[in-house]
Amino acid sequence: MSTEQSHKSDQDKQLLAAVDQINLADDFPGALVALATEAGRLLACDGTSVMWLNGDELEVLAKHGESTPLLGLSLPVSQVGAARTALDANRPAVVPDTAEDPRWRCIPGEERVRAWLGVPLLLGDRAIGLLEWTACEPEQFGDDAVERAAILTRYAAPIVYRAQLLDDTRRHLLELTQPRQSRTAQVQDMGTALRQVTQEALDSTGAWHAFTFLKEEDGLRLRCVAAAGPQRQELRKVILRSDGSFGGLAADRSVDRSVLGRTGSRSGAGPADSEVMAALGITNALILPLRVGKEQVGILGVAEPRSGNSFDQGAIRLMTHLASQASVIIERARQSKTASAGYDYEAVFQASPLGLCVLTLTGDIQACNPALAGLLSRADRNLTGHNLSGFLASGDWQRLVRALEEVAFSGQRQQVDTRIQSAQGEQRHVRLTLAPAPSLTGPARKAHAAGQRSGEMGSTLVAVLEDITSLKILEQERVEHLRELREKHQQLQDLDQLRTRFVSNVSHELRTPLAVIKLYATLARKGRPEKQAFYLQTIEQETHRLETMVENILDLTRIDRQTLRLHPESLAAEEIIAQVLEVYQETAEKRGIELRNRVQGKLPRLLADKNDLIQMLTNLVDNALKYTPREGQVWVAAREVGTSGQAGQTGQTAGDQGPGGRPMLEIAVGDTGAGIADDEQERIFERFYRGRNNTPERTGTGLGLAIVQELMAQHGGRVALKSQVGRGSIFILQFPLAQPIDNSLSPE
Ligand code: ADP
Repeated sequence: MSTEQSHKSDQDKQLLAAVDQINLADDFPGALVALATEAGRLLACDGTSVMWLNGDELEVLAKHGESTPLLGLSLPVSQVGAARTALDANRPAVVPDTAEDPRWRCIPGEERVRAWLGVPLLLGDRAIGLLEWTACEPEQFGDDAVERAAILTRYAAPIVYRAQLLDDTRRHLLELTQPRQSRTAQVQDMGTALRQVTQEALDSTGAWHAFTFLKEEDGLRLRCVAAAGPQRQELRKVILRSDGSFGGLAADRSVDRSVLGRTGSRSGAGPADSEVMAALGITNALILPLRVGKEQVGILGVAEPRSGNSFDQGAIRLMTHLASQASVIIERARQSKTASAGYDYEAVFQASPLGLCVLTLTGDIQACNPALAGLLSRADRNLTGHNLSGFLASGDWQRLVRALEEVAFSGQRQQVDTRIQSAQGEQRHVRLTLAPAPSLTGPARKAHAAGQRSGEMGSTLVAVLEDITSLKILEQERVEHLRELREKHQQLQDLDQLRTRFVSNVSHELRTPLAVIKLYATLARKGRPEKQAFYLQTIEQETHRLETMVENILDLTRIDRQTLRLHPESLAAEEIIAQVLEVYQETAEKRGIELRNRVQGKLPRLLADKNDLIQMLTNLVDNALKYTPREGQVWVAAREVGTSGQAGQTGQTAGDQGPGGRPMLEIAVGDTGAGIADDEQERIFERFYRGRNNTPERTGTGLGLAIVQELMAQHGGRVALKSQVGRGSIFILQFPLAQPIDNSLSPE
């Protein structure tokens, strides 16, 4: 080889290396930078730039070195004289010395430029841009340089253009997929999506055949996954060697060599592939690689144009779009596959916040996760080999056994709520969801293989355990709340009934004295004059009764409305008792009844409403005198119960202590009167109820005892009764007493 020849060969290698570098770029901007850089390396110069043609403007998109135009500069072609010469003629143009050339128009950044070389970037005969070299010394670019610049530009133009198309396509696809899902992305099944793309390739390029081949997992073969056209059935069966040859095209290599070709016309076509293609009658194909990242995963191709001898630029552009689309589809399918298949399920099992375990039909734990051990409060994280029954509260195990059998038998899921007993004895509510898992692998199967309880491994179940204690508490609270609401509702209904009955009773009871008053008023006017005094006395008596009744009714109404507020004070009950008895002393004497105060000494201080206490004692003493015949006895006694010290005697008591063993003060009003029959002893406390022991002269309202009962309830106490017909009655007021320490603190 001569020196000249070897120089030529070096230059060719350099050119090929430059083209390869440009081809390796990931995207359009990358390809532009690579072109500017490689161009700078190819020829001796001070700067290079790539200008892109946008309509009538040239825009500087990439540059390398100094003496270059400003990046992003955009100028009308008509204003850049030298460039216009190159673009108009579609061939390289040289300005040997800018100082000498009248066409030279200096643009910003190129002030120092003395020599200039511009080569149009051509697609066929269409210019898409301009590649320029600049130097600060004149006469820099000779014929040789121009020739090499032209070769580089010829190869680089389609590569850069393809990069731009791919970028556009990517952007377009992104717009389609974000935020809306593109039509193809919505297709879940990759096969369907690729069939659509293949069909679209056939329709849009006007080819006879269209096909998509994907690399098999072994990476050695390409299998047809979609085909369109009359021979699609045959094509679907084709499997090719993945050695970069298909229909004579090196699908694995750079695109400029893979875009267009004729079967068998290029070197490297595997004979087998050629034969396959020949058998199908395919001679002319346009094939593009499908890539995910840098890896080629398959090819998209069309064959045999219906019109013309080969596929035109439009077809190439469309196929570039479709190949991008198909690549995105494959990438998405791979992502979703890895998303679902790539998990380490053992790690998921271990990390689950829910308690998980694998059970045999008899409840043996074959595998469990840490959350289950946590739920069962076991420090020992591995419960394998334990039986679940050991953790359940007694009585719940049988239910779980039934559920386990039903799940195994029916194959249906079941939910059981049980209680578990933690190691600390604490009880928690747990919801168990059981599902059959006969095909389970992993720890359970390993345990099985190891022969653990193998006789009982007829069926395996998986159980999810969830702590629902707080849920249960909420549920209980809800039930409790509902019960309270129901009770309140019932109380309101009762009260309502009571009111209705009360109103009708009141009207009825008022009518009687009113009728008497009305009658006697008429008699006083028209009757016999000698009876006048009797008439007036009766009117006075009935008016008094009416007055008492109205007062009693008002008291009860106030109690019902709870407007009767207590004004409790620390009282010396013995003093109040003495006062009340003093008022009744005269009446008792008149009726021939002995009225005795049996209270001796001081009683413990009583915290009560003074007026209420007076009213209650009055009602009881009044009744006792009313229902006791002459010669009889009425007495009042008092005592403290529930503490060691006893301040008085009540004669008989209902018990020795208050509710809950609290200390009480009992004040009893007893008589030796008519007594009350057993069946009436409860009823006499009802409003308006008057006992059978009443005679016409025993006037009353039937409200006195009802008032006593209500007032005692308001004081936190109660009224008890002991009575025997013919022997007498004892009404006992039972007041709760404050604790001794409180007594000492209560105001005197
Ligand atoms: P009244 O105005 O009828 O006395 P009360 O509510 O005070 O109404 O009493 C209700 C009924 O209880 C009386 O009608 C009477 O039958 C009975 N009763 C009340 N106190 C005594 C008593 N000390 N001895 C016998 N019966 C009594």
